[in-house]
Amino acid sequence: MLDNIQKSYIKKESIYGPDNYKPLPVVLSKAKGVWVWDVNDEKYIDMMSGYSAVSHGHAHPELLRVFHEQSSRLSLTSRAFYTDTLGPYLETITKMTGFEMCLPMNSGAEAVETAIKASRRWAYRTKKVKPGKAEIIVADGNFHGRTTTIISFSSDENSKDDFGPHTPGFISVKYGCSKSLKAAINENTAAVLIEPIQGEGGIIVPPENYLKEVRDICTKKNVLMLLDEIQSGLGRTGKLFAYQHSCGNCSCDIGCKPNQPQESKPDGLILGKALGGGFMPVSCFLSSKEVMQWMNPGSHGSTFGGNPLAAAIAKRSIELLDEDKLIENSKVMGEYFKKSLIDMNSKIIKEVRGKGLWLGVEIDPKYISGKDLSKLCLENGILCKETHETTIRYAPPLTISKKELDWAINKIKSVFEEVEKKLPKTK
Ligand SMILES: *Cc1c(COP(=O)(O)O)cnc(C)c1O
Repeated sequence: MLDNIQKSYIKKESIYGPDNYKPLPVVLSKAKGVWVWDVNDEKYIDMMSGYSAVSHGHAHPELLRVFHEQSSRLSLTSRAFYTDTLGPYLETITKMTGFEMCLPMNSGAEAVETAIKASRRWAYRTKKVKPGKAEIIVADGNFHGRTTTIISFSSDENSKDDFGPHTPGFISVKYGCSKSLKAAINENTAAVLIEPIQGEGGIIVPPENYLKEVRDICTKKNVLMLLDEIQSGLGRTGKLFAYQHSCGNCSCDIGCKPNQPQESKPDGLILGKALGGGFMPVSCFLSSKEVMQWMNPGSHGSTFGGNPLAAAIAKRSIELLDEDKLIENSKVMGEYFKKSLIDMNSKIIKEVRGKGLWLGVEIDPKYISGKDLSKLCLENGILCKETHETTIRYAPPLTISKKELDWAINKIKSVFEEVEKKLPKTK
């Protein structure tokens, strides 16, 4: 329950900041690993992880060490000069992902913008699309960020309403349906931009063959396949990248070998969130030399993009995925978590979707709203938030131990039981 201390912080936020978020009623003050404490030292387990940005857990000791070391040595220079951190980071991330080049940015939306710009340039200069005609195909229910261009192709009315005029050049087709995607392609199509699993859309997992079919269509039609793995990438789904779930003969269980054949490998990959190790905004666009060759001096950039602190943190963040076995833990704990949720057999739960430690629990709004359930979870020590009103997303740090997960599962179970107890008896 809120006391006066918490109320005063909440009041300040609402007096001095606009209402563009509706936070849950808790005021957080510190965190370590999967645990978070409010200003009164009440403890919660973080099943939200900053929308998947805190995959390494809060204040990961090694990242904290890098953060201290790098920020006391050199944190910001701009890209007007070379640094001793950017090259090694770019080398590490391209080798690890199997892409030729990486363009560093800060927020996820900026990396999506970068992908849009790079693929349009490629379309005009390599594919020879007529000036001003390039089109990008996206999917209904997408979430790619909040810039004026990106909201132009959102299907969520409130995110775009009265923010127009909107940017033209985008065509939205049904998610998960490669047929409608194929039908939307014409000679002006530069790229297809999709999420391998839609996160904000409610953890929507497409049909198994979808990405492979999209890959085939894009190859045949000379269209770039761009995947937004800002939320799904870097181990969240139990593989390095979510697209690797549909890479038929990839022999690596957790998808960590970039040189194996990968049937659904995109032409461009967008990363963010967990790339910053839970410390800072770090994003990037990865692609081939063929695409990146057109990003010449003056065409694109960012004051903070690729700064020494970001580069040092991002490099260690991706190295730790392997060193700390985070991808494997995501896979193993995720399967256990999913099974535990299904085994609860709660009539409030309509469906459990997702892969790895990225689960969407579809609740029956007849019994309780997503918002009220999130609040109830909060009161029971679980930080989580609904997306699309009826989906509760559980996405703990990938470092979570079996013991910590069991703690969460027990709490979640008692929340569902509490709701069921309050239900009017059905005949
Ligand atoms: C969070 C997210 C973004 C936007 O990232 P920001 O850092 O908030 O700009 C884009 N795409 C996907 C899939 C996301 O989950």
